[in-house]
Amino acid sequence: MSAPASFRSNLELLLSHEAIQKRVQELGQRITADYQGRTPHLIAILKGACIFLSDLVRNIPLPLSLDFIAVSSYGASTKSSGVVRITKDLDSSIEGRDVILIEDILDTGLTLSYLQDYLVNRRPASLKICALLNKPARRIKEVHADYIGFDIPDKFVVGYGLDVGQKYRNLPDICVVIDPNADIH
Ligand code: IMP
Repeated sequence: MSAPASFRSNLELLLSHEAIQKRVQELGQRITADYQGRTPHLIAILKGACIFLSDLVRNIPLPLSLDFIAVSSYGASTKSSGVVRITKDLDSSIEGRDVILIEDILDTGLTLSYLQDYLVNRRPASLKICALLNKPARRIKEVHADYIGFDIPDKFVVGYGLDVGQKYRNLPDICVVIDPNADIH
C-alpha cells in the first residue's frame, strides 16, 4: 500500500522497499555466517534504527539478544550539533558479549564514534557496527562500519525509520527530502 500523494509531495524515491528488503536479507546472511556458534547481542540506536533492526533480525536465524540505546539527535534540524548525549542507556551488561551496534545511517560519524568508545569501555568480547546507510561525503570522524547496506549521496533522506522533525519514519522506502525546511515544524 503506498502513502497518499500529499504525504510524499516533498519526497523523491532513493531506495525502494524491495531494494531495501533484498539488501537487509544479504546483510542478515553475512551476519549469520560470521556469528555461527555464537549468540550476538544486537544494540539498536533509537529511534531511527528500529525498523531496520526488526527486519534484520528476522534474517538472522541464530540465537540472539536485543537491547536499545538512545542518543540526542539533531532535534528538528537537519544539521548535526556535534554533541552526543545518551538519553536511554542499555538495559543489560555487555561484558563478554559479541555486540553488534545497529545504526540507520552513518553520516558525520560523531554518533557512532562516541558510542563505539562508550561500548568498548564496557568490555564486550567483540564489537561490530552495522549501518544501513552510509554518507561518506559528510564524514568528520572516521568510523569503520563492518556491515553497510548502501552508500548514498550527500542528501537528507527519510523513511524506513529515518525522520525529519519526527515525520516519515513509517515510509516503507527511503526518499530524499526535496526541501528539508518545509518539513520542520
Ligand atoms: P552522525 O552522528 O552525523 O553520523 O549522524 C547519525 C544520526 O544523524 C543518524 O542516526 C540520524 O538520526 C541522523 N541523520 C544523519 N543523516 C540523516 C539523514 O539523511 N536523514 C535522517 N537522519 C539523519
